[in-house]
Amino acid sequence: MSGTEPCERCGSQRPRAAARCPDCGHEPTSRWRYVGWLALGIAVPVLALATVLLGYLALFSLQQGTIGAAGPAIALWIGIWVGAALTVVIVYDRSTETRTATGSPER
Ligand SMILES: [Zn+2]
Repeated sequence: MSGTEPCERCGSQRPRAAARCPDCGHEPTSRWRYVGWLALGIAVPVLALATVLLGYLALFSLQQGTIGAAGPAIALWIGIWVGAALTVVIVYDRSTETRTATGSPER
């Protein structure tokens, strides 16, 4: 593991392993944010599809009077949404954390 990469802010070569630029202190986009956005990129189409499918299933069951059969599917659907919401909260929390660290006008 050797080599450097240019700093996004000041352009100086910074060790790849370094968490932040030794010259300007700029912290590159963290691995967690990439993971979060990747998860979000996968979760959004999956959620959209799941919402359509399970929403249709729930409506169909409601119409047929067999909503009990769709119970586990609806529980799964809610679970997926809760998981997605938590992912969004974690990603947003981490992104604001780095933003406030660089100095925000808000007090
Ligand atoms: Zn820099």
